[in-house]
Amino acid sequence: MKFITGYDKEVGEAIEKECARQRRNLELIASENIVSEPVMMAMGTVLTNKYAEGYPGKRYYGGCEDVDIVETIAIERGKKIFGCDYVNVQPHSGAQANMAVFLAMLQPGDTVMGMNLNHGGHLTHGSPVNFSGLYFHIVPYGVNDEGFLDYDEMERLALLHKPKLIVAGASAYGRAIDFKRFREAADKAGAYLMVDMAHIAGLVAAGVHESPIPYADVVTTTTHKTLRGPRGGMILANQEAADKFNFNKAIFPGTQGGPLEHVIAGKAVCFGEALKPEFKAYQEQVVKNAKALAAALIRQGFNILTGGTDNHLMLIDLRGMEVTGKELQNRCDEVYLTLNKNAVPNDPRSPFVTSGVRVGTPAVTSRGLKEEDMEKIAQCIWLAATDFESKADYIRGEVTKICEKYPLYE
Ligand code: PLP
Repeated sequence: MKFITGYDKEVGEAIEKECARQRRNLELIASENIVSEPVMMAMGTVLTNKYAEGYPGKRYYGGCEDVDIVETIAIERGKKIFGCDYVNVQPHSGAQANMAVFLAMLQPGDTVMGMNLNHGGHLTHGSPVNFSGLYFHIVPYGVNDEGFLDYDEMERLALLHKPKLIVAGASAYGRAIDFKRFREAADKAGAYLMVDMAHIAGLVAAGVHESPIPYADVVTTTTHKTLRGPRGGMILANQEAADKFNFNKAIFPGTQGGPLEHVIAGKAVCFGEALKPEFKAYQEQVVKNAKALAAALIRQGFNILTGGTDNHLMLIDLRGMEVTGKELQNRCDEVYLTLNKNAVPNDPRSPFVTSGVRVGTPAVTSRGLKEEDMEKIAQCIWLAATDFESKADYIRGEVTKICEKYPLYE
């Protein structure tokens, strides 16, 4: 970083400031993580100079023999981690992976079922402001009043609307997803099943959440959430589906140009880490921490949607409390706790204000925090929600103590 500051002061200082923020704050945003230094280093390499349209062995440019090695390692490790026949590591992001799958499997105007954004789904699963909602006929499904996925209602809608594709997967859902149940509904309705496992990919890699691979026609993911790799996406499938839909063509030339080989190198290093025993222990700790945090938040007096969590995240339900999601997010920012506001089902407040916050443990677990630290975090969030004015200094002090106990990028 000092190297960049010496060369370009304005940019370098902003990066140094961001590094200081990450060291000072406890990162509780459920979709974020902290990559290893080798993953980060792989991205800052000469591979960024290389154009490599196409795929290993079949490129449209000369000089691709070395990036071919890197991309092939990423592909083979990806297959090994998730136990599938086909992997594409080129999607620049999770949204790009989803867009390519839609292009490969659907025609504009086809009916697609996805989880309602307000119930925990993702923009690319059918939001009216996203390509998915703009070019396809979307039938949303969602959760019941307690916040659990309503599988019966999802199946009823599938039989009624006969979608061509059902998308399973979520951005803000704290319970295990029953992929078999989705497969059964898709089969009854004559639909394809796509699982977007972006949030839980690391848990799936470690066997801590059931794998969607045996049930889905195609699986998409990001690589930067629980999987703890560089920002990016990936498509996974079994051979039959890969042959039938040609996802490679949908990525290039369908929706992208040259792949980011430096990021693919970061993915390859991350996948190497995911194949080590420590990775399983890490993912188990992510879930243990999330369960401990949910229990501690409940003891403090919060309501947690569905009463707990099976994975790495939970939603604090602020309905009935004075503080809004937006206000609690802002207050937490002031006391070095980073989290995000999130709508709860049937939220009485607008999506910009909300009655919930989403809290996740992947990043704090990467930092080394354990169950006993979750009690203190829960107390700090409770005080931020109920007694902010008089307790702000105390919270800052407590968060600082934890951050100093678990230093980041020393
Ligand atoms: N899918 C899910 C379930 C997500 O939660 C997200 C991001 O939050 C994405 C896709 C999109 O990923 P990206 O931000 O890399 O486009």
